[in-house]
Amino acid sequence: MNWTARSLRSVWHPCTQMQLHEQLPLVALSHGQGAWLYDMQGVPYLDAISSWWVNLLGHAHPRINAAVKDQIDRLEHAMLAGFTHAPVVELSERLSALTGGVLGHCFYASDGASAVEIALKMSVHFWRNTGLPQKQEFVCVSSSYHGETLGALAVTDVPLFREAYGALLQGVHVVPSPDARSHAPSGDPAGAQKAAEQAAQHLEQLLQRRSNRIAAVILEPLVQCAAGMVMHHPSYVKRVRELCTQHQVHLICDEIAVGCGRTGTFFASEQAGIWPDFMCLSKGISGGYLPLSLVMTREAIYQAFYSPEVQRGFLHSHSYTGNPLACRAALATLDVLASDQVLQRNQRWSKAFTVRLAQALAPWQEADRIRHLRNCGMIWAFDVQVAEAERPAFARRFYAAALQAGVLLRPIGTTVYFMPPYILNEDETTWLLERTVVALKACSV
Ligand SMILES: *Cc1c(COP(=O)(O)O)cnc(C)c1O
Repeated sequence: MNWTARSLRSVWHPCTQMQLHEQLPLVALSHGQGAWLYDMQGVPYLDAISSWWVNLLGHAHPRINAAVKDQIDRLEHAMLAGFTHAPVVELSERLSALTGGVLGHCFYASDGASAVEIALKMSVHFWRNTGLPQKQEFVCVSSSYHGETLGALAVTDVPLFREAYGALLQGVHVVPSPDARSHAPSGDPAGAQKAAEQAAQHLEQLLQRRSNRIAAVILEPLVQCAAGMVMHHPSYVKRVRELCTQHQVHLICDEIAVGCGRTGTFFASEQAGIWPDFMCLSKGISGGYLPLSLVMTREAIYQAFYSPEVQRGFLHSHSYTGNPLACRAALATLDVLASDQVLQRNQRWSKAFTVRLAQALAPWQEADRIRHLRNCGMIWAFDVQVAEAERPAFARRFYAAALQAGVLLRPIGTTVYFMPPYILNEDETTWLLERTVVALKACSV
């Protein structure tokens, strides 16, 4: 039996209706190199979504490999309670420096959902420690995604999950999304700004009514990725910051997907000129090598927990908190981003790719088969017009067609998006554009 068949018998795959694999290919990988994944037969696939948005600098990057190999001979892991080590200290210092020292304290976990849980718990515990124990409620944005453990799922507004697991979840306030598509002229900054203003007014009304009970607002700044690369104007993030400050409510920026340069700046929040009270990072922070997440927060929040009393301290731990291998992978990732001037290169690449993509898609846009072609930093997305009956199967069909054409693309609903690693060369860029066109034609878009 081959690896695919053995996997289908023994591995329960994530985010997958297993029965669909009776028709859909399950690809057994042999290795990865740069932007490419290779299956057991040696067939290459261009990883145009950075393996679920984590792989920033390509697979098997020589400098990240070297860092992890060096660390594994020193200290592979040790508990972070009572002990510390150079990689976790250095990473905390460097990330803090990237916020100008505003978010000077880093708390570690392993996956994104845990970072969200930590931020939610810290917020409520902060209010309790400062004499406002009734502030226990959260606000999230319509269509938000913050992870799938129960706390993170509670602030995730995806109907499918709410239907299945709603009974297990704490109630939250959901405010309208500032989705830039919701306002004409769509894609135009004026329309996007109008959508931002209107969405912020809904939040303002809620906070006026309820801020004495609300601990925090959680937000994916600039792009609600899992919602289908739903983009909004930075003025929304700025306004939410103002409202949170004014109403004594924390702002949690979930930059798990949009951080680490994905939107053009290292943190998406920078484009709004703000800092949150809690910043969640994961996904790309380790270059896509090892599970690592963290929450960065301010001095005043840290101080509210600093006390001789155990119960005032933050009560949270994971076995692999601050794993040294993962921290070394993260440090190497930050090194490469800085020394190769990756974000500066991305700016040029992004501009050129936007033009070429618009050219490649022009016939479909003119025929109104593709709408809302949009871009933010190193994220591109467009919505395919699909007949009602074909909508449920579109993502699977396109995924299979793209794989067949040699590209890993995994639409969300009828939204096709690109989230490539920051390393595509000229040939790879051309391959991506050409193969996308092939996949669109194969799906008779
Ligand atoms: C992926 C994601 C998470 C959850 O991270 P996991 O590591 O999958 O638990 C949370 N928030 C956002 C915005 C994400 O994109």
